[in-house]
Amino acid sequence: MESYQAERERMVKYQIEARGIKDKRVIKAMQSVPRHLFLPKESWSYAYGDSPVRIGRGQTISQPYIVALMTELLEVQEAHRVLDVGTGSGYQAAILGELAAEVHTIERHPELAETARQHLIDLGYQNIHVHVGDGTLGYPPAAFYDRIIAAASAPRVPDPLLQQLAEGGRLVLPVGSRFSQHLEVWTRQGEKFKKSNSIPVVFVPLIGEAGWDGDDPD
Ligand code: SAH
Repeated sequence: MESYQAERERMVKYQIEARGIKDKRVIKAMQSVPRHLFLPKESWSYAYGDSPVRIGRGQTISQPYIVALMTELLEVQEAHRVLDVGTGSGYQAAILGELAAEVHTIERHPELAETARQHLIDLGYQNIHVHVGDGTLGYPPAAFYDRIIAAASAPRVPDPLLQQLAEGGRLVLPVGSRFSQHLEVWTRQGEKFKKSNSIPVVFVPLIGEAGWDGDDPD
């Protein structure tokens, strides 16, 4: 089977390092996770391009640079327990699985969750747990989380996600209107939550009780 190692090296060099990502652990994870294996075979040739790729149910696997940027902003450490909201293809979860002790990832579409789970099992990840449900409510059974990341955008930060952050925890997610957002980085100190804004981005909507109303196209 093709390994796409050369494509992956180029992706990291020109899309990620060239744009200022410096965290060595993030770079190593992006070099090692076989991104194409999270896509259907007919899309493998697009896997290492500089853009999102469609994965069905109107959803996309995020652009490689955005995955790297959000993961760097998250500052994941080896002992951490992480919650990933919006499993999609499972690629972001795999990157987190390389960096953290334990990853919980939650997806509202059961069929996307099942495909992602299968890909993660095939690759041998034993520290990643895939759940089906409304991730705007977090995933209470495994709370608290040292880190929380969402790859879909909310009109405002969902309160359940802040509440499920551990002491000193950090949350990265896109917040804004349906069509344009900023990455927000939240940190928790006791009952105090602090926010800083990062770059403008465009994500698919986070649909759920503490997110947007509505449904996705099939
Ligand atoms: N991290 C993904 C990108 C997924 S795109 C990857 O690496 O491939 C965002 C995903 O969030 C979509 O799959 C969408 O179905 C999901 N989503 C949207 N609202 C959600 C919610 N309330 N709970 C869980 N998942 C949600």
